[in-house]
Amino acid sequence: MSQSKSPAPASSTPQPAPFVHPVFEIIQNQAQDDPDLVAKFFDDPQDVISSQVDLEDENGCTALILAAWKGKPRILQFLIDRGIPVNGGNHEHGYTALHFAALSGNPRVCEILVQNGANPEATNSMNTHPVSLALHLRSNPELLESIEKVVDILERMSNREFKDRKDVNEVLSLKFHIIYYVLKDIMKQKKKYDDGPKKNTSFIDLWIKSMLTGRESDGYPVFQEDFLRQGVKEFPYKEAQLFKILVSNFSHCQNYGDSITAAEFINQSFNGQKGFKDKENCDSCGNEDAPKKCAKCKSVQYCDQTCQKLHWFMHKKYCDKLKETHLKQMETISKGAQALQS
Ligand SMILES: [Zn+2]
Ligand SMILES: [Zn+2]
Repeated sequence: MSQSKSPAPASSTPQPAPFVHPVFEIIQNQAQDDPDLVAKFFDDPQDVISSQVDLEDENGCTALILAAWKGKPRILQFLIDRGIPVNGGNHEHGYTALHFAALSGNPRVCEILVQNGANPEATNSMNTHPVSLALHLRSNPELLESIEKVVDILERMSNREFKDRKDVNEVLSLKFHIIYYVLKDIMKQKKKYDDGPKKNTSFIDLWIKSMLTGRESDGYPVFQEDFLRQGVKEFPYKEAQLFKILVSNFSHCQNYGDSITAAEFINQSFNGQKGFKDKENCDSCGNEDAPKKCAKCKSVQYCDQTCQKLHWFMHKKYCDKLKETHLKQMETISKGAQALQS
């Protein structure tokens, strides 16, 4: 049997095991997609889930979200019939059942959810930075194993938001497209890796490295920049306003490093421009809230040690230089303050 994987955030702190209703365990750990496995709990008036069908697990997932995540269409339909809301749950990152269904790579599950009113516009805080997406696969190896299905469903979801609806949703369509484009490359490179000679470094770490490798002069990730710009250009719906804005931003910024990165442009266009930013982005994965600074140069930010370690092979070349610049800046600031006081 495959190991159970709950869609929990990778960085959750260890806590004492909370009460988990058997329904959650059955959906996660049993291979069969058989509604009879869970029906008895819903039929038992003594059981908490019979009156509280939208019960959540410790990650804020309802049984329905888990069934979507595990790609179990029959159980999913049963749970919908029993009244669990398709847009319910309180997952930390705002993921709904449909997001998990897309990630499970099961088209039937997506179909059932959409037919039953799942809201594809439910926004979440998903960061589409390629390193962030790769880190997601790194902590959920099941997804990497079924990447072909995931890529296929993402392409369909992107098209669905544009083609098959009267009310076109550009943002969502482009968002799914970018995720599709990144994961498609991961899929392609993984095939090459698997067919090639054995290597010591895991595939996903190598792929992340390729995204973080920068040019000699200042470490700017040129490859990642070109990769993402190309991804936007391959969006099939050229009439989309958002697409036009991004492409014109890129053409105005030919000197890499003079402006924000493509990853930042893209995330901004999805999540709205932030007028004033009091938080720095992670230098590895682009996450908006990166509380850790490099202790030596205090010039780069990271989410945590994982992100710092992944970036070190590049950053170590520039850390000393950045430290010097940082010290000079601090000196200038304190001189300015002294001048003001005297
Ligand atoms: Zn990070
Ligand atoms: Zn440093």
